[in-house]
Amino acid sequence: MNVASASEPHVAHNYSPLPVTAASAEGAWITDVDGRRYLDCLGAYSAVNFGHRHPRIVAAALDQIGRVTLTSRAFRSAGLEPFCAALATLCGKDMVLPMNTGAEAVESAIKVARKWGYDVKGVADGAATVIVAGGNFHGRTISIVSFSDDPEARTGFGPFTPGFVQVPYGDADAVAAAIDQNTVAVLLEPIQGEAGIIVPPEDYLPRVRDLCTSQNVLMIADEIQSGLGRTGTTFACAHWNVEPDVYTLGKALGGGILPVSAVIADAGVLGVLHPGEHGSTFGGNPLAAAVGHTVVDMLADGTWQHRAAELGAHLHARLGELVGSGVVAVRGLGLWAGIDVEPSLGSGKDVCLRLAERGVLAKDTHGSTLRLAPPLVITREEIDWAVDQLAEAVRSS
Ligand code: PLP
Repeated sequence: MNVASASEPHVAHNYSPLPVTAASAEGAWITDVDGRRYLDCLGAYSAVNFGHRHPRIVAAALDQIGRVTLTSRAFRSAGLEPFCAALATLCGKDMVLPMNTGAEAVESAIKVARKWGYDVKGVADGAATVIVAGGNFHGRTISIVSFSDDPEARTGFGPFTPGFVQVPYGDADAVAAAIDQNTVAVLLEPIQGEAGIIVPPEDYLPRVRDLCTSQNVLMIADEIQSGLGRTGTTFACAHWNVEPDVYTLGKALGGGILPVSAVIADAGVLGVLHPGEHGSTFGGNPLAAAVGHTVVDMLADGTWQHRAAELGAHLHARLGELVGSGVVAVRGLGLWAGIDVEPSLGSGKDVCLRLAERGVLAKDTHGSTLRLAPPLVITREEIDWAVDQLAEAVRSS
């Protein structure tokens, strides 16, 4: 580990990185500046689903870099419509609004929902509300932290954006009670990521879906972390046979190369946007479209999803063996796990530091919870090795 890297006086201190300085990476492995190799069990918070520098994605990016990379949406670019068509098809929807980061996709989805509320549902101007869940994480912009309940994310950043109603996550009755004539959308993570990989009760998403349908409210599923194969299906919502009205996607849509995000919905929803009402200089740029299209193509035949389901079952079986031996609980689906370690063993960060010394990179979420989201290229043997290292790390406190 490169301890010198802990001192980065010119980098804003909004992160507390592990003392590992990446020099190169391939597949599921990162090599640091001293040549030491680490198994990446974080996968850039699910943005590296296909592994570092997947050859097909790199080839698509290099091919596009050799032609045209940025035009802005002021002109057409040849790859944008095919990318949006492919992504819309993957989502079973009509249209795509291309953006860059996850937070930007969520902000855009909220804007679209409000506009839909005024133009289509007939909500009085300025009165639209969006129902959100306790424990949510949707990004870091002012409006998004306005409806967070995490003091770290909010304190010192007010005044906040109005128009959000928060109800407990997993509680469909609370959603039902909160809906009124001004509600334009329910925004939720089908599985909460930053909260510690929280899988909701079985009836939650189907009941929210039914409520949204019967009350003329948009159901927005933020699948930025859960989507694109991570949980063993293309979208986490599919585990409950639920189709939201709007998806937000990001992270893995950029193939581990660049930020690519999107809002995906039918024309009756995204069609509320007209020229000049919303935009982004980089959103839908030719390089992003080429990379995003490649990612969508890679997901088309279900191979990655199947791999995540199979290896995920193995990961969860192995992690389950640690419960009672330094691990209190394990949650998640597919290659995504939240692990509560025995608090007496130290914080989640302490355990991550011990894991890093053993060659495994993971990240804590809150308190004594770790999150694993390895690239889907990880092998069964590598999973076994990583879990063995975790078993040692929670033993050797
Ligand atoms: N939504 C969810 C569910 C996320 O997990 C995240 C990031 O972790 C975001 C949105 C924000 O994405 P970004 O960091 O790209 O803005």
